[in-house]
Amino acid sequence: MIGEATKFARVVIPSPLKQPLTYAVPRSARQQISVGTRVWIPLGKRKVIGVVIELLGTTSLTEIKEIEAILDERPILDSKLIRLARWISQYYIATLGEVLTTILPSSLRPQSKRTVFARAGAFSFSQMWDEKVFESLRASGRGMSFETLMRKFPGDDINRALRRLKSVGAIEIRESMPEQRRRSPEVNSATEPAHPGGATRFALTSEQAIALDAIAHRLSHGGFETFLLHGVTGSGKTEVYLRAIEQARQSGRRSLILIPEISLTPQLIDRLSARFPGQVGVLHSALSSAERWAHWWSIARGNVDVVVGARSAVFAPLPDLGLIIVDEEHDPSYKQEEGVRYNGRDVAVVRGKLTGCPVILGSATPAVESYENCLRGRYRLLEITKRIYQRPLPQIEIVDLRAESAQRKSHPATAQAGKGDDHPLVSKRLVKALIENYQRARQSLIFLNRRGFANFLQCKLCGHVIRCSHCSVTLTLHLKRGNLCCHHCDYRRPITDTCPECSHATLREVGVGTEQIEQSLQRIVTGARVARMDRDTTRKRGFQETLIRSWETGAIDILVGTQIITKGHDVSGVTLVGALLADLSLNLPDFRAAERTFQLLHQVAGRSGRGDDPGHVIVQTYAPEHYVFQYLVSHDYKGFFKSELEFRRALNYPPFSRLVSLCIDGPKVAEVESKAKKLAEILRQRHGANSKYREQIEVLGPAPAPIAKLRGRYRWQLLLKGKQISALVEFASIARELLPRSRKARLHIDVDPFSML
Ligand code: ADP
Ligand code: ZN
Repeated sequence: MIGEATKFARVVIPSPLKQPLTYAVPRSARQQISVGTRVWIPLGKRKVIGVVIELLGTTSLTEIKEIEAILDERPILDSKLIRLARWISQYYIATLGEVLTTILPSSLRPQSKRTVFARAGAFSFSQMWDEKVFESLRASGRGMSFETLMRKFPGDDINRALRRLKSVGAIEIRESMPEQRRRSPEVNSATEPAHPGGATRFALTSEQAIALDAIAHRLSHGGFETFLLHGVTGSGKTEVYLRAIEQARQSGRRSLILIPEISLTPQLIDRLSARFPGQVGVLHSALSSAERWAHWWSIARGNVDVVVGARSAVFAPLPDLGLIIVDEEHDPSYKQEEGVRYNGRDVAVVRGKLTGCPVILGSATPAVESYENCLRGRYRLLEITKRIYQRPLPQIEIVDLRAESAQRKSHPATAQAGKGDDHPLVSKRLVKALIENYQRARQSLIFLNRRGFANFLQCKLCGHVIRCSHCSVTLTLHLKRGNLCCHHCDYRRPITDTCPECSHATLREVGVGTEQIEQSLQRIVTGARVARMDRDTTRKRGFQETLIRSWETGAIDILVGTQIITKGHDVSGVTLVGALLADLSLNLPDFRAAERTFQLLHQVAGRSGRGDDPGHVIVQTYAPEHYVFQYLVSHDYKGFFKSELEFRRALNYPPFSRLVSLCIDGPKVAEVESKAKKLAEILRQRHGANSKYREQIEVLGPAPAPIAKLRGRYRWQLLLKGKQISALVEFASIARELLPRSRKARLHIDVDPFSML
């Protein structure tokens, strides 16, 4: 019986608070409706859009409303994406509504709009201000949206007034769907490549060939398998991706490639679109919501064979998906730190599993967890140990900053010598190398993971430090912009030298940022064209790409930047890399600090010597004896991995355990603290009462978070540690039930957390 099983539909509204709701499917729509289509449904007084996630033949519910309209001719989410959404909802402890909000472009979930019109005629009003509302509607002539009315009559119960006005027939309320473009433009295929080299076909090196063989074998036999492609920097991993995509295409399958940040990798997009002209869809993060909508449909219709994008592209609705690639799989930007806190790399692996297709994770410095997964046999390790043309890896030299500053102290005269050109953070060794490299017309890269001019302002009389009013962090001095700025909430204040505490003009700059180094290098290396790349320069749309292109063409001699310069570029003129304060990331209160530091430094070092000339790297540190630097010098990822693993084992950190972090935040510190303590207490009771939890889970905390206040909200944390992620997720779900969503104290659950701040 056609239509019997489609009498009722379970519908998810993309909103955090909503569980799936059941609606009746009108008889006329029963043939048309399917799982994954959007419907227009009544909810209270409004009409909203939801997505059908299940069709039912019966329901025990008695009072049931009908679906008003079906909005799509074809599902916007296929069954596999719905299964993925369910997995995410369960694993990351989020409602399906929240997950759909995360997955779908926001333009796919507009709300209906209510417009109120005054009717012609004379009416009698029971209340004075009903008349006021009515008169204002009549005066407007065109009707007013509900939102405008609320703004115009704040504080008044506009709902009630409208109800009364409606009952006397004085107004009419029309409900309308926001404008939607039915016909959508094609996905922007990337424009003419600046690197025609992308189309070149090389003979693969033997290591590339072996790696590709394994992937190709899986592609032709079908099924899911995760490969970890561990290839040193400049070893030709991208070429392996391109060949694998080719292979997938030959059997009529589409590919998805995730990269950490679109704007940082124009080269990769060039190479992709040179190899697959007109077939590459690029999901930029700067797309408008209408553009996103257009892209979504275009991809779902199968208009492109390859989709490339950052983290959220993992949800791109490609039909016949046959291959998923995650480039630089270790990169922290794959972790979403707001809303549903998923890890794009891990979701990619699960998507591959649900789709039944291979997944390639590529990196020169794999995440400890990923490498460990190879050792456990969950992922298959593919290695490329040599650079293309057997080019040597760069030579890495460590400079001890302690010795450097001791020398400066004992010879203050030499420090002041010359034109006062030097900078305490640029060692003599590095200055010499920079000048030589410039004279040889080669490019240099200077890495400092801190933007701004100075770290903060401090009063030299009373010691007062200028902090953010909303976050428990210092404000960074930005000289060019002329302000003090919070790097968390973007709060800004004008620069001053007057201390707000003691009123003397005694504030001075402490610490160094990229802006200051850029300025100093302009003096130190006379004549050099120095540029800077960090979050501040990438803000301007388009500027980023221009910058990268001028770097590629050699129009910049020295590029100073934060961690964003460590990613991806393949510029053959770069022969010198300097890392100024290599310890910055080492000193973070985070068990991944050493891993992160090794990855950053190894990646930035790998930017050099990619052309015919060998590369040279100078790493400055206050802790040269740390094992990170020993393995860095010898390019020994495996050695680093082993030491790091011992450290993790000793402290029982991942991959030896799994973590779930619970963070409670709210505007009142006392309330947050007491809620956190109460939650911990109840959890510990449950914990003690249930032997399964007692044996498997450790409850740590609560304690104030390292960043104790963020955007005006105080934060306390609890950490759950255990061997089995399933038990942890189950236990954390209890916390979710105990602390329902409220504005006063919000609970954020982070499964497999990345940032411990
Ligand atoms: P990775 O992604 O591992 O850092 P790339 O894929 O960017 O390395 O390769 C580095 C350079 O070597 C690129 O310019 C690429 O075009 C080139 N290349 C890749 N494979 C080969 C090959 N088999 N023969 C010659 N050049 C190659
Ligand atoms: Zn702030």
